Amino acid sequence: MLKTISSISTQGQRVLLRLDLNVPMEDGAVGDDTRIREAVPTVSFLLNQGSKLILMSHLGRPKGWDLTLSLKPLIPDLERLFKTRVHFFEGAWDESLTEATRSLPEGEILLLENIRFHPEEERNDADFSKQMAELGDLYVNDAFGTLHRAHASTEGVTHFLPSYAGFLVQKEVEVLGRVVKNPERPFALVVGGAKVDTKIGILEHFLGLVDHVLIGGALSTTFLAAQGHPVGTSLFEPDQIETARRFLKEAQDRGVRVHLPLDLVVSETVAEDSITQTVKPDAVLPDHKILDIGTATQDLFAQTIRTMATVIWNGPMGLYELSPFAGGTRAVAQACSNCPGLTVLGGGDTVDAIHHFQMDEKSFSHVSTGGGAMLEFLEGKPLPALERLM
Ligand code: ADP
Ligand code: MG
Repeated sequence: MLKTISSISTQGQRVLLRLDLNVPMEDGAVGDDTRIREAVPTVSFLLNQGSKLILMSHLGRPKGWDLTLSLKPLIPDLERLFKTRVHFFEGAWDESLTEATRSLPEGEILLLENIRFHPEEERNDADFSKQMAELGDLYVNDAFGTLHRAHASTEGVTHFLPSYAGFLVQKEVEVLGRVVKNPERPFALVVGGAKVDTKIGILEHFLGLVDHVLIGGALSTTFLAAQGHPVGTSLFEPDQIETARRFLKEAQDRGVRVHLPLDLVVSETVAEDSITQTVKPDAVLPDHKILDIGTATQDLFAQTIRTMATVIWNGPMGLYELSPFAGGTRAVAQACSNCPGLTVLGGGDTVDAIHHFQMDEKSFSHVSTGGGAMLEFLEGKPLPALERLM
């Protein structure tokens, strides 16, 4: 059972809160405030109880104290969305910081500088975690996307403070947990994206749960190659052909229907003005690149998805960033939004594609905030930082 904040009282207490404020920045300002808005329920709940919030997050992958990745530019957006005063602590972690947490007025926020500026964070250094624990009376994690990493601010600190999950983590665990433990059927897993080796875990894990597996994206090229089809100059992984073959055999043995592309969008170039053709898998020429699923495949995938009680989708069907190759991903997104069943999607690029098509996240039952964390959760792997909140 997850320990959640709903049943605890934090009035007057210093709550050390780990968020995922890893927002895209544009010209030194927040480019997209989705991640901040997602933290609002937990932040408001804690502030309304009269707690003092000490906020920690990472931003990007700094090597040392890199001020281009400072969290300071987020302050106006945090104040606007969290509706309170946000103080900032950017100095060295000494007694002045502990003092600042104690003198913080109830209902206000103290934001710490990018936690990854400290090399001890990613090393999950025990002394650093202990020092971090001095900054709060209790610890709350609402950064689902970081739970697969054992860092000081996600895992280490939990050894020194009572630790709880925020509402975002709670919701992710409820929805994703339902899909893994008790899915309604018929159930389809839709997988695309770049590489077999990042997706084979989820594909194999779900063989025992799903009725259909729909495979698109660059990943499907390796599966087509495994079936002896030509792939031209497409992105594909020769060293994963055996893995793909093994998966197809196992699926067949278990009676799971695997749908590979029936037709493909190919081009000799990768550009906004590329000239494309739609061909059958056996008609891919040596100078062709496979860049999307064709219209017959779109129809097949859309029809299958629409009749499902549960759909999980991870990974774009093609190189959606360029419009000649966006059709397949758009069709799958639309089919998911029209599906009356439970539709769960996630993955950095999959969610980016939804935004790219200007579709509303509310068109789906659940859009996960975790890329790697979602995949590992769905693969049934224990997430080290989540285990500590149980
Ligand atoms: P996610 O982040 O949603 O898990 P991935 O990172 O696995 O997805 O893959 C997304 C990337 O795969 C996108 O940049 C997309 O352009 C690329 N991609 C998908 N299909 C193809 C293809 N046929 N050829 C080249 N790139 C592709
Ligand atoms: Mg990605």
